[in-house]
Amino acid sequence: MGSAAAYHLSSRGKRVLGLERFGPAHNNGSSHGHSRIIRQAYHEHPNYVPLVQRAYHLWHQLQHDSGETLLHTTGGLMLGHPTSSIVKGTLLSATRHQLPHQLLNATELRRRFPAFHPRPDDVAVYESTAGYLLPEAAIHTHLQLAVRQGADLHFHEPVTEWCAHPSGDGVTVKTGAATYHAQRLVIAPGAWASSLLTDLEIPFDVRRLVMCWFQPISHPELFQPAQFPIYIWDVDGQSIFYGIGVKAAMHSAPIRCTPLNINRKITDADISQVRSHLQTFIPQLNGPLVRAVTCMYTLTPDEHFVVGLHPHHPQVAVAAGFSGHGFKFTPVVGEILADLAIDGRTSQPIGFLSHDRFANAPS
Ligand SMILES: Cc1cc2nc3c(=O)[nH]c(=O)nc-3n(C[C@H](O)[C@H](O)[C@H](O)COP(=O)(O)OP(=O)(O)OC[C@H]3O[C@@H](n4cnc5c(N)ncnc54)[C@H](O)[C@@H]3O)c2cc1C
Repeated sequence: MGSAAAYHLSSRGKRVLGLERFGPAHNNGSSHGHSRIIRQAYHEHPNYVPLVQRAYHLWHQLQHDSGETLLHTTGGLMLGHPTSSIVKGTLLSATRHQLPHQLLNATELRRRFPAFHPRPDDVAVYESTAGYLLPEAAIHTHLQLAVRQGADLHFHEPVTEWCAHPSGDGVTVKTGAATYHAQRLVIAPGAWASSLLTDLEIPFDVRRLVMCWFQPISHPELFQPAQFPIYIWDVDGQSIFYGIGVKAAMHSAPIRCTPLNINRKITDADISQVRSHLQTFIPQLNGPLVRAVTCMYTLTPDEHFVVGLHPHHPQVAVAAGFSGHGFKFTPVVGEILADLAIDGRTSQPIGFLSHDRFANAPS
């Protein structure tokens, strides 16, 4: 989100200083692992659809401007029992926003995409425009274009503290290396939200996730994109697992952590949980483990993002709590952060992402 904000702010002719704790596109936060799902019929809430549609437009524009391929269209399947929240939520968004989609029963699914082994009463909502993004390449692309437009990016320089001037204009930001003054501040801290956004009083809940890559047992052609769309599977409301090509992972994330104490070592339990889902639903993919890495989700209490102006400091724009589904929105979030930082408002429909919903929530 920070890389996209730097890109959008610099593209509007603003002087931009970017401060990053690690190097460009590192493995210590939430945006690594070579692929991220993008889809439109958004089961989490129909309110996200206009934002993801704008994101698609901006991804295409970024590809055009950079000459990089960042978005691969494979089609996507949202699977589960017809009453599952993923299937119902996907259909709700598709219907409300008139998005092209197909509802497949288990037999139709098997015939069309033979790698999947649904249970007889599973259904799938197929969306042809879904696919995946290349996160590291997307970050590098935003950063490179930002630098080309004049942004000054400092890596390995963590922010230790920031303060907003009471007048409503101007901020001071300190790092171990220097103290900076600026008119506006954008904070997109990922899993470090609790330390940089304490005064929002949102209980950001960081979770440890593991992504696994498998070698198919046989028939590798079944896992080529034309036959094997990205998928998210709601298993009886008990667990959610998903995959992008030969990468598979659990979306359900029971292990709490912080960026400092996350266990980066992969355990047998991490792998066996994914394997048990593959064995049932995609058995041909349950071959040797090729690679596994950890990552972090930063959950808000309702698992919706927090994007808006800081409630006490109108010169500070905030993007946090992406709750394990934010990457696809990166360019539109960057655009919104630029709108908020420059104009103090945006025409994008982000009211539902305001931090106010927590302040006003009944306790
Ligand atoms: C395993 C996994 C799978 C996912 N799958 C999908 C998916 O398929 N589709 C999808 O849309 N989303 C997905 N997501 C979610 C998505 O990747 C995240 O929502 C998104 O990447 C979050 O971006 P961010 O900018 O908030 O965090 P990050 O990319 O982690 O960026 C935050 C940055 O802030 C820096 N920082 C923090 N504190 C400081 C400081 N004090 N000073 C300087 N720099 C600081 C960090 O170093 C970091 O670089 C997934 C996430 C995970 C973990």
